[in-house]
Amino acid sequence: MSALREDIAELVAQEGPITLERYMTLALSHPTKGYYMTRDPFGASGDFITAPEISQMFGELVGLWAQEAWRAAGSPAPLRLVELGPGRGTLMSDALRVARIAPDFLSALDVHLVETSPLLEARQRQTLAAAEAPVSWSANVSQVPDGPAIVIANEFFDALPVRHFVQTERGWSERLVGLDESGALAFGVGERIEADLTVAAPEGSIIEIGAIGARIMRDIAARLVAQGGAMLVVDYGYTQTALGETLQAVAHHAYVDPLEAPGEADLTSHVDFAALARAATAAGAKVLGPTTQGDFLKQLGVIERADALKKRATPEQRGEIDVALERLTGAGDPKRNMGELFKVIAVTHPDMPPLPGFFQ
Ligand code: SAH
Repeated sequence: MSALREDIAELVAQEGPITLERYMTLALSHPTKGYYMTRDPFGASGDFITAPEISQMFGELVGLWAQEAWRAAGSPAPLRLVELGPGRGTLMSDALRVARIAPDFLSALDVHLVETSPLLEARQRQTLAAAEAPVSWSANVSQVPDGPAIVIANEFFDALPVRHFVQTERGWSERLVGLDESGALAFGVGERIEADLTVAAPEGSIIEIGAIGARIMRDIAARLVAQGGAMLVVDYGYTQTALGETLQAVAHHAYVDPLEAPGEADLTSHVDFAALARAATAAGAKVLGPTTQGDFLKQLGVIERADALKKRATPEQRGEIDVALERLTGAGDPKRNMGELFKVIAVTHPDMPPLPGFFQ
């Protein structure tokens, strides 16, 4: 049994069942035993690999997108270049390297990394030790100083806790984590009926709501409307809100039971891009997309970038670049290829012109 599982079982024994959102918050972000607090899950030896870890091309193109968005916003200085959940800091490092080709952009940058894990923050500090722009860290996006901002969120929203509601014979009720007769963590439902949820669905249906993600999106969108700028969201997810749940737990590249080993497995869910777009629009912002990661990267020139890298590469490296290109942009086989499973939206100030990656 994981140490955190014992802690949570004891908490539930004392206080009663907890919401899935609280369970996920503990499993991911418990200060000493949470998943992100105790490990670096990225890369071939970790639990999963993300686009910036697959190839430098990803961060470079996101960096070029940020430059374009900055120009479209009237080249404000300073520009807060913000990244939510930067992992190892690889994306930002690649984005800052391509910023060298635009000295006016580079000199406007004030970089802010929003990270809850001290371990990953330390890793990001290493990666960005030689950064040519000032970099600061905070645990919450509300701590980023005022002013025009470009906000990047790659595989951030999928890592946020979600709530589940279950259709019972009396109506929708929140899914809770409690204890079964043997004392093991088990799913159940609360007593309270959610009168606000009126979706018609057969008994046993589940609705997944990313309330924390929607709140973060609303706050950032309101900031962009008031102070200017744009946000780019890349993640696996779906474009129409639908019934059903997508909670998954992964440890060492394999799916496990989400209640089995809190703190030792990564808990994520697929992102409801329609819900994020509604939160942004409600705050007065404009939403571009959704498009797919494959189409987004191709429109930004990933094929040309791969060709340029291949010209300077050994035959073995050329093979690796082709494999990376296929993983980043390829369709089908979502276990391997990210091109279609991953979606991209931008959220902008209402006056922002259309941005690259989202041209029709
Ligand atoms: N963007 C990176 C990492 C994605 S994993 C990449 O693509 O490689 C999710 C990241 O979000 C991790 O860095 C994790 O520590 C961070 N994170 C999770 N919840 C967070 C929260 N509530 N606030 C800030 N960062 C968070």
